[in-house]
Amino acid sequence: MYMGDFIVIEEKIGPDEYRGCSVSTGTPFIARIDDDKRDLFSDDSWIKTHPSACRFLRPSGEKIVCTIHETSPVQCKAYRCVIIRVCSQDGMARGFVTGTLALHSDDPALKKDWKSLERQITAFPEDAENLIAGVLMEKGYVCT
Ligand code: SF4
Repeated sequence: MYMGDFIVIEEKIGPDEYRGCSVSTGTPFIARIDDDKRDLFSDDSWIKTHPSACRFLRPSGEKIVCTIHETSPVQCKAYRCVIIRVCSQDGMARGFVTGTLALHSDDPALKKDWKSLERQITAFPEDAENLIAGVLMEKGYVCT
């Protein structure tokens, strides 16, 4: 909600693509609006009334979501963002994993499965995102 000074859009470079910059480090990035969030992003009524918010943020029901989850800057992935959403096969949300590699879930079964993953995550932190998604998908979860 207060990242508008740090994550900026410099230029629109395609129908759904933007050249952006993480101002604090001067790191450029190319942002592509997620396929399933284009309608959300195209409605700019909310963002116009929230000048401190990151320009890629939008309300979705009762949540506020990043519309460039797939291509968000590395700083967001590392520190702020949800990097994996975990659902059951019927599409029910079971939890999510943040960029700090923490699981947030009320589901006892998922929490138990997560416990068995923690040692592997600690051993291979650089590949944690693929590792987590791979293991959870093997266990029957849907990871996005
Ligand atoms: S996670 Fe997305 S909405 Fe949040 S600051 Fe980063 S780019 Fe902006």
